Amino acid sequence: MQRQDPVLKGIIDVLSGKTQSTQESQLKTDYKLKNGRLMRRLGSDLKFVVPNPVRWRVVRSHHDDVGHPGCEKTLARLRDYFWFPMMRRYVKSYLASCVECCFNKIPTGKREGKMYFEEIEPIPFRCLHIDHLGPFPRSRKGNYHIIAISDPFSKYTILRAVRTTNAKSVIALLIDVSAYCGLPKRIISDRGSAFTAKEFEQYCDRNDILHIKVPVRTPRANGQVERANQTILSHLRCSTENRHEWDTLLPMVQWSLNSQKHSTTGFTPNRIVFDFELRDVIANRMIQALNNENDTDTETTLTSIEIRQKAAERIMNEKTRWKLRFDAKHKSPTTYEEGDLVVVENVPTATGESHKLEPKYKGPYIISKVLRHDRYVIEDLADIRGRRRYSSVYTSDKLKPWCYLNPEIDCYEESDENDEPEIGSISMSGEAELSSPDTESTTLP
Ligand SMILES: [Zn+2]
Repeated sequence: MQRQDPVLKGIIDVLSGKTQSTQESQLKTDYKLKNGRLMRRLGSDLKFVVPNPVRWRVVRSHHDDVGHPGCEKTLARLRDYFWFPMMRRYVKSYLASCVECCFNKIPTGKREGKMYFEEIEPIPFRCLHIDHLGPFPRSRKGNYHIIAISDPFSKYTILRAVRTTNAKSVIALLIDVSAYCGLPKRIISDRGSAFTAKEFEQYCDRNDILHIKVPVRTPRANGQVERANQTILSHLRCSTENRHEWDTLLPMVQWSLNSQKHSTTGFTPNRIVFDFELRDVIANRMIQALNNENDTDTETTLTSIEIRQKAAERIMNEKTRWKLRFDAKHKSPTTYEEGDLVVVENVPTATGESHKLEPKYKGPYIISKVLRHDRYVIEDLADIRGRRRYSSVYTSDKLKPWCYLNPEIDCYEESDENDEPEIGSISMSGEAELSSPDTESTTLP
């Protein structure tokens, strides 16, 4: 079998004295013939040298047949008995082309990710985060939810109790707010039904507002609202004696949030938004004074423009700190190009059944468009008649390259009847093509 590999045959011929070679002494240090078999010396061990035509089969039996272990484990098993040149590279390539592994292995180590943030415009209400809170117990006025609007620059929060979470009530509040604060340039929300409704999109289009929908599974992007929500809930919990009167307290909660110094900006939202001092709504001026006692004298004399610039600077510093921390905990995202084939994380639908045995990834899909910030539009491979073409946006951490047949492994000439292999069937059909013995050889290191 080893003699079918011309390189190994050459070595065997030298070691058995059939042919002469200038490298004879080196070959004798590295190899030994034992019972007619070519063995590689590794320390005091002798390992069988696997001839090229059967390497693929040998690796398969140490990977596929034993439950698809990772690269190191596959290598360790192989090394018990076998050796061939560039074994690690070969095994890596082999694993990259394994369909089973592609669908079922989650990459180990840090998750991919990079944090992005927009420059901040130091003008209040240019951008608004909107979110729903609730449901709460039905209030006497019939309210169940709160719409929370917050300005990521001034940190100013507007709260409104509503009966439903539909688009109508959100639009009504936005019209109200715009009457005082002007129209925002951007609105950031989750993908709740109010925000995916046609009505809401039309409202944004009509008013030339860029609507950014944050994916449900990336809470980091809408962190601003999430944090505000926690504060609002704790306010309500502490101050509601009658469970059905919570909505009457909202104006007080809103005042309280906007008159407290924000930890990032160092100013109260009221101070950033208004150029004049507001009369305190809450009778207890003592508490208010305590809240703000860290105001330094220099900051009380700042003009509103200076206050806004300072606030913006502090927000950017904070965001940069967050970014550094986030990026350090993640590995840098894999980049894909249009036309690349990928598999995507398979998020099972909630059926109550165990999903333990379901594949971890589904696909393959094709990258049809590269978006900003490591996001990609993916699509079905081919138009299947009568079925809607699947198309969706994914961040790179939910994607993995589709397994591909590496040229390292594919070191056999294709037989004549084999045309270009079809996309998607590359690895599936690999087995039949590869197990046929061939004469092409690799060179020894
Ligand atoms: Zn595998």
